[in-house]
Amino acid sequence: MLDLRIDNAEIYDGTGARPINGSLGIKSGRIVAIGEAKNDAKELLDANGLALMPGIIDNHTHYDAQITWDPFVNPSTSLGVTTIVMGNCGFTIAPCRPADRDLTIRNLTHVEGMPLKSLQEGINWGFESFAEYMDMLVKKGVGPNVAVFCGHSSIRTYVLGDDAHKRTATQREVRQMKEILREALRAGACGFSTTRSGQHNGEAGIPMPSRLADFDELQELSRVLKDVGYGTLMMTKGGDTSIQEIEHLASISGRPYLIAALLHSPMTPEKTFNDLEEIAGANERGSNLYGAVSPCPLTMEFTMHEPYLFEGLKVWNPLMKMNESEFKKTIRDKKFREKMRSELSIRAYRIFNGEWNKVKVTQVSNKDNLTLEGRDLASIAKKEGCDPLDYMFDLALAENLDTMFTATVMNSDEKAVGRMINHENALVSLSDAGAHLTFFCDAGYGLHLLGHWSRDLGVLSLSHAIKKLTSDPSKVFGIQKRGEIKLDYWADLLLFDPETVGRGELSRVHDLPADGSRLTTPARGVHGVWINGTMIADHKGMIPHAPTAGSVLRSFDP
Ligand SMILES: [Zn+2]
Repeated sequence: MLDLRIDNAEIYDGTGARPINGSLGIKSGRIVAIGEAKNDAKELLDANGLALMPGIIDNHTHYDAQITWDPFVNPSTSLGVTTIVMGNCGFTIAPCRPADRDLTIRNLTHVEGMPLKSLQEGINWGFESFAEYMDMLVKKGVGPNVAVFCGHSSIRTYVLGDDAHKRTATQREVRQMKEILREALRAGACGFSTTRSGQHNGEAGIPMPSRLADFDELQELSRVLKDVGYGTLMMTKGGDTSIQEIEHLASISGRPYLIAALLHSPMTPEKTFNDLEEIAGANERGSNLYGAVSPCPLTMEFTMHEPYLFEGLKVWNPLMKMNESEFKKTIRDKKFREKMRSELSIRAYRIFNGEWNKVKVTQVSNKDNLTLEGRDLASIAKKEGCDPLDYMFDLALAENLDTMFTATVMNSDEKAVGRMINHENALVSLSDAGAHLTFFCDAGYGLHLLGHWSRDLGVLSLSHAIKKLTSDPSKVFGIQKRGEIKLDYWADLLLFDPETVGRGELSRVHDLPADGSRLTTPARGVHGVWINGTMIADHKGMIPHAPTAGSVLRSFDP
């Protein structure tokens, strides 16, 4: 007797093959029949010809903190995600000594845009080591299946303490870090993650610890993966990190290397394609590199209280340390504005390059300014006969920094993004789910790929889009028996309507601990989500009080 039989479904198996119409039989959380399933079942579901695919594997999330109070990692599971990879970019919360908790929280607040009070009130600190963190997740239960990176910044802080964001490590300290990484991999980490990006700063603009590592430290840590023989590496590279350097680290480790974040910038239009070509060249020489690309335009909501958009600029660095009155004085200062204009005039690979036509006023706090809402700074400034940068600062200062702006800064050229998504060395990624909660929400990146890119634009077939969300990431990470609809595989499934699938309008909800807010998008066209055979969402959204049926993944294919 089956537990569940889904009849009359268009079954996409996740390999890119054409769909077949038929039934799916599920027993004890696994797929036991595909196509012709006639066995009796405790529960029958008529799919009415809807599409059934393996659940989405979201390989770039930052739910490490949120999952300790919210096992279903809202909103990802309602958006068809059945497996998440956490701890990207080296920002994990384990290992962490009790003495470093405050610093870790403050850094996360800054670098990943999570409300400080929500983290202080919400995080359940029932662990110190990486292994204890994993055990805690198992004990508390997880909604989706969860894989966790061992994060460079965390192990660096664990060994160097306060010095982690100030200096390079001694040989002895590097040896200690290697030992901690080895232990984490033994305890079930899916690999090692790090960042070199200038955009990644902690509280008061201090660089995140891994940015202080020298190349020797990166080489030594990569060697640990060679020793154990499994695991995946990921790096968010800076504008000045070369693919050659990463190729070298990948060859030391002998493991797959995921390179983030390849986003298209109209100011350096060939940069991401050059990176992808260099990745292709490295792979021809025997490496296993992937460029992490996003199917979503990078749009950020921000105010001058948290102006993440500008934090990659050198001229902005001192401002991150200032209190509000010093900050106001500085952005009012003509000399500062001149310096900022001159840095922006030099084109570089960074989030913002002075595209003022793409920065809009979205919400004013003074009613007299209401006519500005929805208009972009370039056209407002042109009409007023002033410079857009001056206009932005003057408006923000006049409204006590409360003016809300929205910037569409990267990945908005659909022709270029379509080429990137289809590149054979690209991995569709970068939802950043669980992070930047006040700036954007791309947790629905998978539904967006299926609806916008496959159905609406026809950039790739539905079978191919599904492959990119399922078996492609499962292979890169060596995730066992997931990412395909195949006999004996786990029943992680997404039932959806290809005619309507997508993500809905962005809205703000206040459901984080301590009343913190986050941006979210609802699912469109989702009719069912199953994790290990347990249904957790239907056409109405999350099923109330669904059990936590996810697994903490602790062993990966070599
Ligand atoms: Zn990230």
